[in-house]
Amino acid sequence: MDLFRKRHAVMCFLSNDTVSGALVPYAGSSARPDLFRLDVGYDPEEETLTDYPEARCLQLIRAAVGISDLSLQLKTVQAWEMAARVADRFQQERVFLVGNAARVQPPTGALGGNTGIAEAQNLAWKLAAVQRSETKQGLLATYDQERRSVADFTVEQVTLLSQQRQIEGSAGISVDTLIVNMGYRYNAGAIVQEDDENLSLVQSPDWWTGQPGTRAAYRARTPGQADLDAGPVRFPLRLADRSRGTELEGRCPQHKDTLHFPLDIYQIGNDAGNLLDASGAFCRSYGVTTTGAVIVRPDGFIGWRSLAGKADAEQALTQALSALLFRSPLSTFDMQQSQH
Ligand SMILES: Cc1cc2nc3c(=O)[nH]c(=O)nc-3n(C[C@H](O)[C@H](O)[C@H](O)COP(=O)(O)OP(=O)(O)OC[C@H]3O[C@@H](n4cnc5c(N)ncnc54)[C@H](O)[C@@H]3O)c2cc1C
Repeated sequence: MDLFRKRHAVMCFLSNDTVSGALVPYAGSSARPDLFRLDVGYDPEEETLTDYPEARCLQLIRAAVGISDLSLQLKTVQAWEMAARVADRFQQERVFLVGNAARVQPPTGALGGNTGIAEAQNLAWKLAAVQRSETKQGLLATYDQERRSVADFTVEQVTLLSQQRQIEGSAGISVDTLIVNMGYRYNAGAIVQEDDENLSLVQSPDWWTGQPGTRAAYRARTPGQADLDAGPVRFPLRLADRSRGTELEGRCPQHKDTLHFPLDIYQIGNDAGNLLDASGAFCRSYGVTTTGAVIVRPDGFIGWRSLAGKADAEQALTQALSALLFRSPLSTFDMQQSQH
């Protein structure tokens, strides 16, 4: 454990004449500070779990650690399948696939848990909005539309990373998991697209500047210095200028009446708005001017932005939210819902 701590390592891939695999410490529990897991591979067509009795496991662990008389206690022996698969569809009527049910990937490439959490986050606010009659069922179809292409890309990249680790070692790794996990963009779904045919689908997360479909950067801070975060099922509207915020905030009740949804408005700027941004980082990171506005979805992705203020700001906001929620502001559906 000391070696892992000294090297700031979370796992160790190893290979010698007796064993090849990964050694992983379960850190963080004072009750069991010396608990480790050793992963070794076998071909299921040639062996099963019964071919790994306690004596063989102890021998493999000692060979992995490199101490032949290491005192050990074996907790458990389990098997898991290394696979790379994505389901053909993530939705079948009222059933949605999330996490490993939707996709599996080699853990030697990582991101299985992260991707599952992102899938759940993408689906949860959509289900909540439909459940509360704030939107139509059509919004739910955007779960598959947005997440399945990300799953295809993630599984492909993670499988490549796994192969690079196995065949070429650390020096041969070209896949960047930060980019795979955080740098993608939704190019269809519950977003209001901008016209830019040359826009990349994936790049370093730091390179995005507020394009709809990308992750919202958490730049502005409250006067108490807490980070601004997306609420669980509300739409934060981020405004670059206080006066514009006040103007739109005054009209917000109308949006609630006509569109029947919760909307939080934050004004971001230099002077005593809701959120401080003395350095102008907000405008730079979101690619807007000081009269611009951004709608961040409840899952933290940018749904829409206006680069600069418009004369018909109220109409633009209504249209953007209607598009995000798959609603028409004056439809019969909305009028019926607003009477509830
Ligand atoms: C060795 C290893 C290391 C990993 N390391 C990482 C990592 O570092 N980072 C990362 O992001 N991901 C990692 N992963 C991947 C990550 O663990 C999975 O992607 C994640 O756990 C999947 O979560 P899930 O909730 O979708 O499925 P699971 O965690 O598999 O949960 C499904 C649950 O459903 C239960 N269940 C199954 N069938 C039924 C049934 N019929 N009725 C009731 N319950 C049922 C199961 O018992 C299980 O508890 C690793 C995976 C492995 C195997």
